[in-house]
Amino acid sequence: MAIRYHCRHCETEVGRLPFGSAEEVRTLHRLADGEAVDFITEEEDGEVTVQCICEHCQQSLDRFPDYYALQKWLQ
Ligand SMILES: [Zn+2]
Repeated sequence: MAIRYHCRHCETEVGRLPFGSAEEVRTLHRLADGEAVDFITEEEDGEVTVQCICEHCQQSLDRFPDYYALQKWLQ
C-alpha cells in the first residue's frame, strides 16, 4: 500500500510514501493536527490519499485568506 499526499486546492501531488496504511496516517495526523484526519481517503486499490496543501497554495493562502475560504465553500 502507498500513501499519496495531494494538494486539495490545485490537485498537485505533493509527495508519496511507498508504504503505510490509513490507520498509520490517522495516528500520525492525530498526534500532529487532529483536523487533518478528515482529509484521508482510502481508494479501492488500497492506496491512501491524504488531502493537504502544497507550498505554493500555502503562500497564496497566507496572502489571500478570503479567496480560499470562498473556494472551500463552493467545492
Ligand atoms: Zn496546491
